[in-house]
Amino acid sequence: MNIHEYQAKALFETFGVPVPKGVAAKAASDFDTALAQLPEGPTMVKSQIHAGGRGKGTFTDGFKGGVKFCKTKADAKEIAGRMLNNTLVTIQTGPAGRKVQTVYFTVASDIKKEYYLAILLDRATSRPVIVASTEGGVEIEKVAHETPEKIFKVFVDPAYGLADFQVRQLIAGLGFAGAEAKGAAKLIRNLYTMFWETDASMVEINPLITTPTGEVLALDAKVSFDSNALYRHPEITALRDLNEEDPKEIEASKFSLSYIALDGNIACLVNGAGLAMSTMDIIKHFGGSPANFLDVGGGATKDQVVAAFKIILGDANVKGIFVNIFGGIMDCNVIATGIIEAVREVGLKLPLVVRLEGNNVTAGKATLASSGLPIVSGDTMADAARKIVQLVA
Ligand code: GDP
Ligand code: MG
Repeated sequence: MNIHEYQAKALFETFGVPVPKGVAAKAASDFDTALAQLPEGPTMVKSQIHAGGRGKGTFTDGFKGGVKFCKTKADAKEIAGRMLNNTLVTIQTGPAGRKVQTVYFTVASDIKKEYYLAILLDRATSRPVIVASTEGGVEIEKVAHETPEKIFKVFVDPAYGLADFQVRQLIAGLGFAGAEAKGAAKLIRNLYTMFWETDASMVEINPLITTPTGEVLALDAKVSFDSNALYRHPEITALRDLNEEDPKEIEASKFSLSYIALDGNIACLVNGAGLAMSTMDIIKHFGGSPANFLDVGGGATKDQVVAAFKIILGDANVKGIFVNIFGGIMDCNVIATGIIEAVREVGLKLPLVVRLEGNNVTAGKATLASSGLPIVSGDTMADAARKIVQLVA
């Protein structure tokens, strides 16, 4: 789960990670009250969307920059009016962009130098890794490509926690000394504590800055949490912004379905994540393109199958459906009954290919065959994939 910059920075403050003072506003009528809480002077206006690259983004009406420096609060108010409810396109949003529904005003900081600092989970070592660079404010992927020697990593033993010598390694690597070194050490320790205690999967500060007066501040903040750990963090779950999520994925999560929208035209309904992956592969293999990843789970119910069909059909790109079920715990006849009910309930007009295998498959196939519905049966995964690709072509 992702959160907005303004929410991430509020969390930073509670853990003692310094940020510039800021206030968020969700309506133009709130701009004055929000700005009244900041001192007069240079102010940043920052579009709040769950995507990076905002500074270099462009709004669909041609207005440039989703993060803007303003000399006065009056200018900031005017710029915020241009951003709010406007659609921002950045390298991370895709061409459709994202509608800005919150703007964040912050006191503009004087920047001495920009750095990069992030903590994430490293899959190879199964440990938190702290990634730091003296090249901040630019995309880290670009730094990794062009000057990889300017990125360094510290792997943290999760049982021991972040050790002092590792903090010193980071400080030395970033070239901090004196008051800056002290501030940066504190910031890094507190950021690690936050990462650990909130079950974050990533915290990224780009840029981390130093100011001419020796402060070290997080100027940007991007935080993601491990969804599997949200049950123990109600205060973080409360930060979820459904406006930033695909409505189909929200609906799917209500029925405990794992659904990820993709941009092809063959919808997949599958039980088990591994089978879902191989189903997408085999569609590709036969020249088709999957519209989604959808795992109904090992013990799906009829209601879940009906919900899954409705979610799939909510995607206007879908031209055909491929149901691929391996009955282990799942009874193929339960799935067959669910499919028939779903097809009737939604009045399905699109081609549907079903491949059933495993537990109670004979009864399942008989149920489908006797339904009188135009459901195409596939004998094997390959046979079914070939059929659905032909039907949507
Ligand atoms: P992003 O483009 O989505 O990564 O948004 P950021 O919050 O990182 O802002 C983009 C850029 O604007 C930063 O990399 C900074 O160079 C600049 N910026 C952001 N806040 C300030 C500020 O307070 N003062 C100054 N001078 N520049 C800022
Ligand atoms: Mg940034």
